[in-house]
Amino acid sequence: GRRLIPEEEHQIPRRHLNDAAMKTAYHLQDEGYEGYLVGGCIRDLLLDKRPKDFDVATNATPEQAHALFRRSRLIGRRFKLLHVRFGRDLIEVATFRASHDSQPKNSDGEHGRQNDSGMIVRDNVYGTIEEDALRRDFTVNALYYCPKDHCVYDFANGYSDLKNKTLRMIGNPDDRYREDPVRMLRAARFAAKLDFNIEPASEAPIKELAYLLKDIAPARLFDEALKIFQSGHGVASYHQFRRYNLMEQLFGQTVYCLDNPEGYPVEKLVLNALQNTDRRLQQGKSVTPAFLFAALLWYPMQRRMKQLQTEAGMHTVPAMHEAANQVIGEQIRQTAIPRRFSTPIREIWELQFRLPRRQGKRAERIMEHPRFRAAYDLLVLRENSGEDLEGLAQWWTDYQVQNPQIRSHMSREAN
Ligand code: ATP
Ligand code: MG
Repeated sequence: GRRLIPEEEHQIPRRHLNDAAMKTAYHLQDEGYEGYLVGGCIRDLLLDKRPKDFDVATNATPEQAHALFRRSRLIGRRFKLLHVRFGRDLIEVATFRASHDSQPKNSDGEHGRQNDSGMIVRDNVYGTIEEDALRRDFTVNALYYCPKDHCVYDFANGYSDLKNKTLRMIGNPDDRYREDPVRMLRAARFAAKLDFNIEPASEAPIKELAYLLKDIAPARLFDEALKIFQSGHGVASYHQFRRYNLMEQLFGQTVYCLDNPEGYPVEKLVLNALQNTDRRLQQGKSVTPAFLFAALLWYPMQRRMKQLQTEAGMHTVPAMHEAANQVIGEQIRQTAIPRRFSTPIREIWELQFRLPRRQGKRAERIMEHPRFRAAYDLLVLRENSGEDLEGLAQWWTDYQVQNPQIRSHMSREAN
């Protein structure tokens, strides 16, 4: 059934509604279709948070909607969508979809398709608004806002869950996680970001089913990893992800080191890196995935490097390069790292071994390296986490603010 929440009750201020999304939904309705703002944007507005993006849902097919908007583009295969551009805003318009219950598994469905383990591999079965609501993940993500009557339409009791700060999977949680294991990552991510509790039945299967994430494309997991750890709630997310055994599905090598620290301050460094990222995002500064990955994989790389040195008798530099190759190679099997990030990760690591060597003109030259800043930041994190670097991070902190005379004096004195 449907519940209508009037404006007096939900109190979403009209000025918080994105203009482009409102116009898009309104235009669809004027042309005789349905059109609503939906999903995370309505959830966030009800929580008085600024939405990341605004989505519109409609009963028009992507092609029908495409015909209505001059500046629009059809995208996607696994999940067809329309992108509508309004100046700087990009609105995603999705057609109402139905669940896959009616589709036989492994049917060669042209529109919808599930594999042997029940995972959805194609999702273009269109449906009604109510079906669309019920195929979404959490009840709080299944709220619709009508641009004409300004009501919130609730088909899954999401409004009361939202008021109770509860994440509840729609339908049978076990089935829904099997259909799309990424929903487990989303559960832990939203719990951290919104400070919600995952309702017991929705929480229970996660630990058991976490392993299903091994079948998700590494490129999708990379995108999810960024959403999780570069959301401004990285520390809270980390605790949730450890708690549900999800961390090892994204950063298996890091979890191995967390569980076998061998004297390294592994967890401290991970938490400091995430805290540092959270703080930068709060201050409106940019963050690069390369820095975060370099920090999360620093001890896995160190550990491998030590092995190569002691067991294979390799020298520092070649051992570092080989360890970097192996660790990044292994990480890519879980979360594909685009080359534009994997090269900087290596450079940040290489610089950790150059930063101690500061004599003569070396210090000046290191500072010109495009990755100096990130490498220095990692050095500071290492020292703050308790690695004994004999004051090296402090030395670099001082060096950067000194004038040329004092700098050259510092370089002479450095050992
Ligand atoms: P945010 O954008 O803040 O990360 P969101 O809820 O908007 O959160 P999106 O990935 O933008 O997340 O997805 C938009 C909406 O699409 C969701 O609110 C949800 O209703 C639906 N959705 C997204 N991913 C899934 C999924 N894996 N399974 C079911 N529904 C989903
Ligand atoms: Mg969103």
